[in-house]
Amino acid sequence: MNEQSPLIAAEGVTRTYHGSQVVQDVSLQVEPGESVVILGPSGAGKSTLLRCLAGLEPIQAGQIIFRGAELSRSGRSPHLSCGDIGMVFQQFNLFPHLTAVENVALAPTRVRRVKRETALAEARQLLARVGLAHRADHYPFELSGGQQQRVAIARALAMHPALMLFDEPTSALDPEFTREVLEVMRALAADGMTIIVVTHEMAFARGTADRVVVMDHGRIVEDGPTEQVFMAPRHERTERFLRQVSTA
Ligand code: ADP
Repeated sequence: MNEQSPLIAAEGVTRTYHGSQVVQDVSLQVEPGESVVILGPSGAGKSTLLRCLAGLEPIQAGQIIFRGAELSRSGRSPHLSCGDIGMVFQQFNLFPHLTAVENVALAPTRVRRVKRETALAEARQLLARVGLAHRADHYPFELSGGQQQRVAIARALAMHPALMLFDEPTSALDPEFTREVLEVMRALAADGMTIIVVTHEMAFARGTADRVVVMDHGRIVEDGPTEQVFMAPRHERTERFLRQVSTA
């Protein structure tokens, strides 16, 4: 891959459900090391776009290029399942019968054939990285929502992804647990991980993102450096959206 080429690029991507275009002709490029936040009103197509980038959604037009190669259009991406792209969802979906460390070590042993002892040792390091060394041997039901979400983040990191996608990772959390999850994402971005985050957390977007993308009705209406989007949005729709969330 050329040093200058984006890590992931969507070109003219359209996703249709039952005849309605929920993502319309979207183009977006993300460079290695960038942190990008996608904002916009509910129903704008943010999650669908993220799922398209993950290769989870079949697309009807356009293409997605990840590390120089076109992602399958079928919605059955090998990149997510092999761990090159990590994704964290609103729901944590941990295996309830496995401890935190076993949840994190599972995919490397199953998919990458890493030796169990090696995978468990690395899983403990990853849990320490997300502030959960002391919870490694606990089961999901013994953990708070924020802790479970941090295990889910460690689980994605265990596959050494080149890109991490976050789909409203704090939306299902009680407010008191939101901050610890945002802090882990902030640290990942500071470490140089490429992240794309769909969120309604404006302070996080402003404090962490290099770039902000705003969607409305399936389209990108704004894409620019964070401060410019917040301080001097180019589009009336962005201004209206920012005004609504700041008074919500
Ligand atoms: P956002 O993340 O911005 O809230 P979504 O991407 O979740 O928006 O949804 C965009 C639009 O696509 C919404 O109108 C939603 O109802 C529709 N949609 C999302 N997923 C499906 C689906 N599986 N089947 C039908 N419509 C869907």
